[in-house]
Amino acid sequence: GCGICVKKCPFKAISIVNLPDELEKSVIHRYGRNGFKLYGLPVPREGRILGIIGKNGTGKSTALRILSGELRPNLGQVDGTTPSWDEVIRRFRGTELQNYFKKLAEGSIKAAHKIQYIDLVPRRVKGTVRQLLEKADERGIWRELVKELGLEKVLDRDIRQLSGGELQRFMVAAVLSKDATLYLFDEPSSYLDVRERVRVARTIRSYAPNNSYLVVVEHDIAMLDYLSDYVVIMYGEPGVYGIASKPYGVRAGINHFLRGYLPAENMRIRSEPIRYTITATPSETTLSLKTYISWSKLTVSLNGFQLRVEEGELHEGEVLGVVGPNGIGKTTFVRVLAGELKPTEGSVSKPAGTLKVSYKPQYVSPSLFGEDKTVEEVLAEANKSVLAPGSWLNVEILRRMRLDRLLDRRVGELSGGELQKLAVAVALAREADIYLLDEPSAYLDVEERLAVAKIIKRLTEARGAAAIVVEHDIAVQDYIASRIMVFTGTPGVEGHAHQPASLFDGMNTFLKELGITIRKDPETGRPRINKEGSFLDRLQKRLGKYYYIP
Ligand code: ADP
Ligand code: ADP
Ligand code: MG
Ligand code: MG
Repeated sequence: GCGICVKKCPFKAISIVNLPDELEKSVIHRYGRNGFKLYGLPVPREGRILGIIGKNGTGKSTALRILSGELRPNLGQVDGTTPSWDEVIRRFRGTELQNYFKKLAEGSIKAAHKIQYIDLVPRRVKGTVRQLLEKADERGIWRELVKELGLEKVLDRDIRQLSGGELQRFMVAAVLSKDATLYLFDEPSSYLDVRERVRVARTIRSYAPNNSYLVVVEHDIAMLDYLSDYVVIMYGEPGVYGIASKPYGVRAGINHFLRGYLPAENMRIRSEPIRYTITATPSETTLSLKTYISWSKLTVSLNGFQLRVEEGELHEGEVLGVVGPNGIGKTTFVRVLAGELKPTEGSVSKPAGTLKVSYKPQYVSPSLFGEDKTVEEVLAEANKSVLAPGSWLNVEILRRMRLDRLLDRRVGELSGGELQKLAVAVALAREADIYLLDEPSAYLDVEERLAVAKIIKRLTEARGAAAIVVEHDIAVQDYIASRIMVFTGTPGVEGHAHQPASLFDGMNTFLKELGITIRKDPETGRPRINKEGSFLDRLQKRLGKYYYIP
């Protein structure tokens, strides 16, 4: 066996803890003597979209920087001498990458790169959206892109004033308007709601020049699936080494990734598969469940923005998923339930004195906990039991979320993903009756998203508590939510929160609003977005079953 699985492994798979020796021959880059090591590279192909999926810290962004020519690979030579392009090309002789590196060395690959950390951009470039797009545009399509990506309203805004979602769409437009050989999109769905994610995916697909190379790194698997023509999985030990898999077909590749086993390399990358429910019951009845919290019709007015909420309730043991566009009042609603905001009309009723609320806000910054505190101190404040070896919370939270390695780190030194995990862990560690989690998957990779989703579900059920989760990743919602609450309206102006509905009915309402349909993968149960105008898309729309045919 591979040493990871408890049971005997039917595949006799190689585990990532015992790497085969021949892998050493495929070192592409190493950051310094004891730095991170990258083995192999994802191979871009002309005219096709390559999707990259994998853990944080396994070299995805590094691979993109190498493919774009921003970073010349050192082939693992860390003695200070950088290999020449000739040596690099020789290394790739006989592989699909040889030709690619020849072009790169000649300087005939021009890259347009949407970097991962877009918040760095407004510090380096100055101007309004219009000025910058006009300047960037080499294909004469900037006006079309503005329309496709819904940027009309912010054209004359300085880019320093854009919200995260607006900045992301601006960057996608700027990159697509370049006349390049290689287009790179590093995590384009960050900060975007579902409608915007679909828009960005459609725009990338339809505006990618036919003869260019296109690479997308993405943690939202429904998005990656929709965007890509083939996929490469990056796996390994985060921060230590990363390996690029062989190319796989989109459906098979994502399914192998979820199962945790890569057949072409006979490699087990995870001990447990990630499983979705293949079919949710169309109308689960929750009548028999104990009501924890309920609210009457509510109105919340914030200068200029109005939210109307239909009455609803939350039951014991349930996870209520909240979906809807940015700026529609989701966070406002959560804050009303948390008691941070008073509704203008209506009321929230919590049975006398017994309910405790634990809240993870949408935006987490180190100051939420104190920059100088260690992760251990922060967790101890939330619940000492998390740190007691072998306790239930220790296993469920500390170990499963892999926070045990970070205990000595100071909050101010954590990466975005690590800070997010800590915030979710703290919220879940507290003993409470209701857990409010506002966008828990931001900055997390697929495995972390699904691990967090699983933990939320288990803890809520085991404690007989309830959770409300605001989340834009539909695969995560599908995995976690027992019921769905849909928000509609005009962002920034007025929001309408519908009554909680079953997962099936809620998703159906939500997808109908968006005009997209979803099918379920028969093997893994994961949601897949139908291509517009495909047979299933047309059929499901005609039947009014936007969220798959049960
Ligand atoms: P991913 O995009 O998959 O999250 P990255 O390519 O950003 O991974 O990083 C992979 C590893 O390499 C990380 O451990 C990171 O800290 C390290 N790393 C990235 N850039 C540098 C650098 N310029 N110098 C040293 N280490 C780096
Ligand atoms: P979502 O979480 O759905 O993205 P929010 O609830 O954060 O939306 O915000 C809804 C709208 O209310 C936005 O237009 C936002 O700018 C506005 N808003 C939020 N909080 C306040 C506040 N304290 N004062 C005035 N406007 C606010
Ligand atoms: Mg990255
Ligand atoms: Mg919000």
